[in-house]
Amino acid sequence: MSTVALGPRHPVLAFDLGGSWWRVGLLTDACAVRLLCRVPAVNHRNTAKPVPGLQADLVDFVVERTREQRRRHGFDAVGVSLGAALNGHTGEVLGSAPLWGGGTAPFNLAAALREALPDVRWTVLNDVSALAVELLAHSLPGRRATAVTVSSGIACRTIDLRTGHIPLDPVHGVQGEIGHLPARFTALGREVRAHCECGAPDHLAAFSSGRGIEALLRELPEARPLRDRSPDDVVGAFTAAVRGGDPRARSLLDDFTRPLAEVLLHQAVLDPGVERTVLSGGVVDGLGDHYRDSLLRNLAALGLYGIDDPAYFARRITRASDDGLAALRGAGIRARSPLDLIDVHLTKGERREVLDR
Ligand SMILES: [Zn+2]
Repeated sequence: MSTVALGPRHPVLAFDLGGSWWRVGLLTDACAVRLLCRVPAVNHRNTAKPVPGLQADLVDFVVERTREQRRRHGFDAVGVSLGAALNGHTGEVLGSAPLWGGGTAPFNLAAALREALPDVRWTVLNDVSALAVELLAHSLPGRRATAVTVSSGIACRTIDLRTGHIPLDPVHGVQGEIGHLPARFTALGREVRAHCECGAPDHLAAFSSGRGIEALLRELPEARPLRDRSPDDVVGAFTAAVRGGDPRARSLLDDFTRPLAEVLLHQAVLDPGVERTVLSGGVVDGLGDHYRDSLLRNLAALGLYGIDDPAYFARRITRASDDGLAALRGAGIRARSPLDLIDVHLTKGERREVLDR
């Protein structure tokens, strides 16, 4: 059961800067967020600029919107959820294939924002960490829970529900970047290889992320009927076919979810204390319960050694609310909570004190 106090109810501004959309919202209650605006992201696909130019545009967007909203709402704290891998200790951005492609440049968003508006209390966290923090707003069972997001990219984050702590690699400050784990993909039994957006071959994201699925739907011979039906929107045709009960589309969906099912199977073996895994992201929202059902079919077929319980994964794997605002809520909750200081500012002794509280 979540026991973290979510703080007083003063307004907090929150940003959700994803690979496809940028959202701004105001956290007005313990964990209710009001969406203020949603605009297409400035990314490497729609803007011909080198990576530092794209990153400067992102900083300008946050600073301008913060100035504008501050005049209206008078907040002190701003939470930013960023769709990029981050070193959670230093705030250094490690890269984001959906935002900036394979390119990298030294970038510390929190430092840039503090320099631009030093009187604002900034909290910058990875978007999947924001989804994990949002789980604190629900009364979930068990000691730990994992947020899994399947959108343009794919990643997961495990959080301690009692403390709000997200354990990170002590040096590199990351956790749960499952999108770049090696994976194996078969379409109707035939092995298929694909390149990940990070440049490496056969990563989970190349087969199970939104962009991976879209690329495969454009190439696989098995998806030709969908392309013929809707050449300009094969993802839409696939979604409609799955929702309409087309057995070939459902079989393809099982192929797309199998590599993720294998990762979740390993998680169940290695960390059984995670009693709830919550799925979210554009792919999950688009396919609804069909997505979760497909994942559960694969997990049932794979099986878990030593556990004879047909409802095991159905009990543990759920879907998040599909309002698209979870990362905004998570960024706002973390900006408001003193626990946002855990990995950045506290000494080891102070951190222990907060965690033991
Ligand atoms: Zn990769």
